[in-house]
Amino acid sequence: MNVETIGGVTLDDISFSYGETSLHFDVGLPRGAFAAVMGPSGSGKSTLLNLIAGFETPASGRIVIDGHDVTGLPPSARPVSMVFQENNLFAHLSVEANVGLGLSPSLRLSAENRATIAQALERTGLAGKGKRLPRQLSGGERQRVALARVLVRDRPVLLLDEPFASLGPALREEMLDLLMALHAERRPTVLLVTHHPGDAERIAERVVFVEDGKIAAAGTTAEFFADSGPEAFLRYIGQTRRASGIARKRT
Ligand code: ADP
Ligand code: MG
Repeated sequence: MNVETIGGVTLDDISFSYGETSLHFDVGLPRGAFAAVMGPSGSGKSTLLNLIAGFETPASGRIVIDGHDVTGLPPSARPVSMVFQENNLFAHLSVEANVGLGLSPSLRLSAENRATIAQALERTGLAGKGKRLPRQLSGGERQRVALARVLVRDRPVLLLDEPFASLGPALREEMLDLLMALHAERRPTVLLVTHHPGDAERIAERVVFVEDGKIAAAGTTAEFFADSGPEAFLRYIGQTRRASGIARKRT
């Protein structure tokens, strides 16, 4: 294991399979890194995050977080928060209660806890909306609630699986700004799955490129987006950019 990754997140020779589909991950991120996880649909990005969170168990290999082997720990015992594309909230609980779950799964909340929740709502632009139910919020607001919960949990590792994919471009930008501000404030190690090269270029320091169930390349964002960047990655974003009508200028 690379010494640089102690304190961060390491997938040490991880093997996993869904029947015929085999995946293999070997990658390390230093503590506090902000990494964009990119790659074609079905390449294994969600599986990578699920292994770190403990929602899937590897057949072999180790997952090390903050220098501790967490491979045998259930998700609740790992120092990790995860945000999905949607359905992050309990429909029958208020915004406040949904955020409060990040502090206490039984929702026995102290006055101090309530103050922390109010601060997180304020911080994520949800002040005054604490009593609402998720269905009384827009899609963007619901993702803000998920981020408010991440804030109160304050775990060292934050996993986000296409969290803003269902939002329009302006709202996505706004949410990325909020995410960047949270990262600057608390410095968790972040893995953000995104299909947008522009998002990765703008906010991530590193890129982890997944292809065919493996880490095809990992490095700094500057290395990735240079003309000398990993071939498979440039091919992938070339396709993505052509598909969205933006040509990549090659010299
Ligand atoms: P991505 O998030 O990059 O789109 P996934 O990690 O969801 O990819 O999936 C990786 C591979 O594993 C794909 O081939 C997918 O079909 C397969 N897979 C994912 N989840 C399951 C599952 N629950 N059962 C069987 N195969 C799965
Ligand atoms: Mg996925």
